[in-house]
Amino acid sequence: MTDKAVVLGKGKDKPIRNRHHWIFSGAVQSLPEGLIDGGLYSVSSHEGAPLGYGYFNRKCSIIGRMVSFGPGDPFTALRKNVQRAIAVRNELFGEGKETNAYRLINAEGDGIPGLIVDKYDTTLVIQIATLGMDKLRDFIVETLVQELGPASIYEKSNLPSRREEGLEDKAGFLFGGQVKKIFIRENGFNFLVDIAESQKTGFYLDQREMRKLAGSLAADRRVLNCFSYTGGYSVYALLGGAARVDSVDTSGPALDLAKQNFRLNGLSPEEHGFIEADVFSFLRGPVSGYELVILDPPAFAKRKADVPQAGRGYKDINRLALQKVSAGGFVLTFSCSHFVDERLFQKIVFEAAAEASRNVRILQRHRQASDHPINIFHPETEYLKGLLLYVD
Ligand code: SAH
Repeated sequence: MTDKAVVLGKGKDKPIRNRHHWIFSGAVQSLPEGLIDGGLYSVSSHEGAPLGYGYFNRKCSIIGRMVSFGPGDPFTALRKNVQRAIAVRNELFGEGKETNAYRLINAEGDGIPGLIVDKYDTTLVIQIATLGMDKLRDFIVETLVQELGPASIYEKSNLPSRREEGLEDKAGFLFGGQVKKIFIRENGFNFLVDIAESQKTGFYLDQREMRKLAGSLAADRRVLNCFSYTGGYSVYALLGGAARVDSVDTSGPALDLAKQNFRLNGLSPEEHGFIEADVFSFLRGPVSGYELVILDPPAFAKRKADVPQAGRGYKDINRLALQKVSAGGFVLTFSCSHFVDERLFQKIVFEAAAEASRNVRILQRHRQASDHPINIFHPETEYLKGLLLYVD
């Protein structure tokens, strides 16, 4: 950290004064001489008013990300944000008797750009997205150890954004014991998470509240869990009294783990379907008789430019699911692409319903779980949206 400031162009300080974290390269009037990419610098307005501190990387179109606002020390602010994030989760989950796996730090959603920390029982899994946060790794690990006393910390930084930042992927233990498979509890149910050999940090924690909802709708229904991953929705549906659940995913290892998760909850995988297949082709096949269909695909639009193509993908699976679901059935459908916003998603589902010629009502709208807070000053932190549909 140096005293040399990054100066913003005239009128470009407004988003920062409104606590938006990102500085686009076009907003910068001047960078200090000899700026080191990834370093922390003070940021000031065109008129010289101090706005806070951010880290900068000239390789990226988002050239800077604010880690603190106002004149105070940025390390103190970072520590406070970590403490606040922990305090919120303690409010949400208490001592973790029912749920001991949750997102502890949701990057800009918790005011800490470029950092995700997920807690799986006593293990923390961290993901670092940016060069600036990469350089703060030691401080973050030290702070997490002091504030939480975890048994271990595993880093799983394999985000595509790291390429743009000029970073390689990084994986391995940063602290404590070396456990790679962890038993977690979610809403009182049991799951095994393979933190090293898995997608994301191991478990799609953002769907926790929706899994509970699906469980509450599942009694006596035949359920199709599309994009099932390790069977989260399937377990909730069966423990909610579903008659049968078929889980479809392209990942064989995820389906193997789904079977283990069934056993962990006293369910017999032999009595249900585990189908290693592409959901698009599966739904085009002879599918019928399902009374609850879950559609939780991966993000089809990773960039703004992908939106038109992603829209076609979302429309296809929703049309197919709406065509095939039984009358009086539910479809619980999601998009986790930030670039497909709620209005657009509803429009896509409207088009799918029209093409499927089914009568569809929206019963509920859903969001990412509350341990993935949306920063009101930084709306890009909103990404997951879902609709619970009733189909005549
Ligand atoms: N609902 C799940 C998380 C889904 S993540 C949960 O609650 O845990 C998305 C999943 O879709 C991943 O497991 C991935 O392997 C799978 N997937 C991606 N593309 C697919 C496709 N075309 N067909 C089937 N599965 C796919």
